[in-house]
Amino acid sequence: MRIYEIDSEVAQAMENELERQRNRLELIASENFVKDPILEAQGSVLTNKYAEGYPNRRYYGGCEYIDVVESLAIQRAKELFGAEGANVQPHSGTQANFAVYFATMSPGDTLLGMDLNAGGHLSHGSPVSVTGKYFNAVHYGVDKETELIDFNQVEDMANTYRPKVIVAGASCYPRFIDFEKFEAIAKSVGAILMVDIAHIAGLIAAKVHPTPVPYADFVTTTTHKTLRGPRGGMVLFKKDYEKILNKSVFPGTQGGPLEHVIAAKAIALKLASTSEFIEYQKKILSNAKSLANAFIKEGYRLVTGGTDNHLISVDLRSKNITGKEAEVLLDTVGITTNKEAIPFDLLPPTQTSGLRLGTPALTTRGMGESDMEIVAELIDKAITNNNNEDKLNEVREEVKKLTEKFPLYEGLSYIK
Ligand code: PLP
Repeated sequence: MRIYEIDSEVAQAMENELERQRNRLELIASENFVKDPILEAQGSVLTNKYAEGYPNRRYYGGCEYIDVVESLAIQRAKELFGAEGANVQPHSGTQANFAVYFATMSPGDTLLGMDLNAGGHLSHGSPVSVTGKYFNAVHYGVDKETELIDFNQVEDMANTYRPKVIVAGASCYPRFIDFEKFEAIAKSVGAILMVDIAHIAGLIAAKVHPTPVPYADFVTTTTHKTLRGPRGGMVLFKKDYEKILNKSVFPGTQGGPLEHVIAAKAIALKLASTSEFIEYQKKILSNAKSLANAFIKEGYRLVTGGTDNHLISVDLRSKNITGKEAEVLLDTVGITTNKEAIPFDLLPPTQTSGLRLGTPALTTRGMGESDMEIVAELIDKAITNNNNEDKLNEVREEVKKLTEKFPLYEGLSYIK
């Protein structure tokens, strides 16, 4: 039985979402379009199975095939990233991060992470997150001039606060991160180093971005961004931490693992070890550079002046539009983006002065460097003509032309 036969309301909303993905330009840096086998695994009978515990050590019977799936995912994660251990059960990136904190800290212990305004993530100790409420979170930022991570500040804060855990990694940082430097600072104060590679996991897997694995005690990630797998999380760790980390994920912070998602993670990890995936990651980078250069040509300032990875952070202040206004405006012409604080932003996080743009999703659709130039032109045209309905209609037409050139999920429908 199909969804539309029993629930036309949900089926229609799913169809609308499918059409939205097909017809708009997806520039949210944390999103991607998964391959069909990832969708198939997540819609499979594995969703029926309880499997609390770990392969060969389950609290339920009938786990022999689930064990095969989860063992494959663990093995592939270890091989792909060169890690000593892996836990593939975290339901999300936030769950993966919390599992590491819960394994290594007690409530009230100090955590040093990157400030949200400088590009860090909520789960790095933001006051609105459990990670900032249970732990004493302090934050480093970026240098005012270079907008690069201020390692003098990281070192000073590490010496002053003596954190149990130092967190490296970000949601909006367009440059390589010096993981070796983080390790040296963590070592010098006896802190555990956790690196969150949620955004850059695919680039690291393809070896087009430096890896933190040799330097970090724990590496956490999501599996749904550049890695192009299902929505979920994962923790890589040094062998000595296996027991405490696994205990922290289950039973510490989660119940039954989502084995249908773990199957999709295993498949994504297999796909990530192919030469095709390496080519894809290289294209993400060349597209991001092309997008960056096109914006600079149009007269925009980029945070740090450019990019080493899959995203750019555009400073909109010279264009007299806030991040929020730009996000809403671009949505109306079929371009999906998200507002983002720029370093030392004077506007609140609900407004912001910046826009974060990433290339993973459009690259999956097959777009190349010349398409990125068109995308930048369309965004600029919309921003500079935001009160001119004729010009905005021209942008809408161009978006339609571009998306039609790169079809997505052909043949898929939730209503027939
Ligand atoms: N860590 C980083 C660096 C992220 O950017 C994100 C999400 O954007 C997360 C963790 C959280 O992932 P999730 O949304 O799966 O909890």
